[in-house]
Amino acid sequence: MIKPIVAGNWKMNKKVSEALELVRNLITLVKDITQVTIIVCPPFTSLYAVGQEIKGTNIEMGGQNCYLKESGAFTGEISPQMLIDVGCTWTILGHSERRQYFNETDSFLNQKLKYVLTTGLKVMFCVGETLEEREENLTESVLRRQIIEGLRGLQPSDLKNIVIAYEPVWAIGTGKNATPEQAQEAHAFIRALIGKEFGEESAKNIPIQYGGSVKPENAKELISQEDVNGFLVGGASLKADSFAQIIKACVP
Ligand code: PEP
Repeated sequence: MIKPIVAGNWKMNKKVSEALELVRNLITLVKDITQVTIIVCPPFTSLYAVGQEIKGTNIEMGGQNCYLKESGAFTGEISPQMLIDVGCTWTILGHSERRQYFNETDSFLNQKLKYVLTTGLKVMFCVGETLEEREENLTESVLRRQIIEGLRGLQPSDLKNIVIAYEPVWAIGTGKNATPEQAQEAHAFIRALIGKEFGEESAKNIPIQYGGSVKPENAKELISQEDVNGFLVGGASLKADSFAQIIKACVP
């Protein structure tokens, strides 16, 4: 059985003092939970402070993005090694906001993913279709392209350090989550595709998170789907109480 994995993507929210308040409250609320992998992804400016705070707890930390070099003249970028240095064990890559607003393409994400995996950081790799693509019946072809091109050149052993986050763009930040059936259908498609590309063992073991307007009210029903192994949560991760409720809904 795949251990559920729930991550909070704080996006461009929380100054250092606010980030500390949030993570301290979260630590208290989830301290007894060992059956779920819990990750917070604060903005870069709060990583060091939050990293100090979570030491010795059951909470792990991720970056929201990073670049594909260790160091150098890349103004405004952050390296995977810098994320590791402040306590991260994870990074998100390919979030739809990066794809949409910062023009991150499948092939660029593939280069980043391959580099990041060499550093030892684990990756939550996001995929998902827009509303127009869903309405034009393109969901599966979009997911196929994002996964085949994004994961191109990886070995089955690399997949041990990857989680796929299925995040339909139309459900992100809109309050309109995918139905449990829609999520299950997409997750099953992704798992079958991973099986075809990387073998049955990889398909069986890779966690697939759902993301898109996950809340305490819908978490239980979504996690009860066979191929939903956890969540990537935006808005509802900004309050310790609602994020903790979502985590608790994932305890098997
Ligand atoms: C996200 O940005 O990854 C996300 C799922 O956001 P929200 O939960 O706010 O829809």
